Amino acid sequence: MAFCSFCFERHAIVFTTRTVNGENIDEAYCVKCAYQSKIAGVKEPLTVAGINDGNIDEIADKIEMMMLENNTDGDVTGFFRNLVNKKIDLKPFAGSDAPVNKDTNMNLENSKPDLEAVKKFFEGDKYATEATGIVIEKAEKGHSVVSLMPNSRHLNAVGGLMGAVYYTMADFAFAVAENCILDSDTITVTQATQMNFLRSWHGGKITCTADIVKDGRYICLYEVKAFDKDGTELALIIVNGFKTARK
Ligand SMILES: [Zn+2]
Repeated sequence: MAFCSFCFERHAIVFTTRTVNGENIDEAYCVKCAYQSKIAGVKEPLTVAGINDGNIDEIADKIEMMMLENNTDGDVTGFFRNLVNKKIDLKPFAGSDAPVNKDTNMNLENSKPDLEAVKKFFEGDKYATEATGIVIEKAEKGHSVVSLMPNSRHLNAVGGLMGAVYYTMADFAFAVAENCILDSDTITVTQATQMNFLRSWHGGKITCTADIVKDGRYICLYEVKAFDKDGTELALIIVNGFKTARK
């Protein structure tokens, strides 16, 4: 499954190839970016199916959910017709009237949990806390800070830091920021991660910050950054999360 080439937030469901100045340009759109596009052939099938400004967000969430849970290969028109006619009914997770951050869309209710309780809960993540040695420094809904003092166990054969160390820190920082509300009825799991290594590490403590970019009913997008002891950015990691019921 490919991500939308425009928002990188949702999976692509519309694929086009345009020819500009004799060059073929491949584009992949999620439903919302397709609906908002200026290209008639991309937008038209959606408006014909009944998608409008009032239901596009709901439809985009539903499609994302379906794409994650089902193989959605097949007749696209029929798929949209079912969505618009609500034959496919996905109950959103507990909504509330709590205040929402306008930039990220995140629900701000009970967003600052007790740090010691969060640390205790995440002790269960033994790979991050025991095997790797990552420490939680800050935990709020949508924002976390974790750190690690690397030692010889974290190095590769030429003395550099293993890329997996950054991955583990990013995945853990994301999990803490998303799942630190311990009595929530949902749990968010990592759906996709994109790692960008910016500079090499030259010793000292590494700090990783996770910040929500956009929240949705079923999915969310985080930006995670790793810094060295001087505050130099070492890696930028984009994490897509998928929400599911907490068992
Ligand atoms: Zn998009």
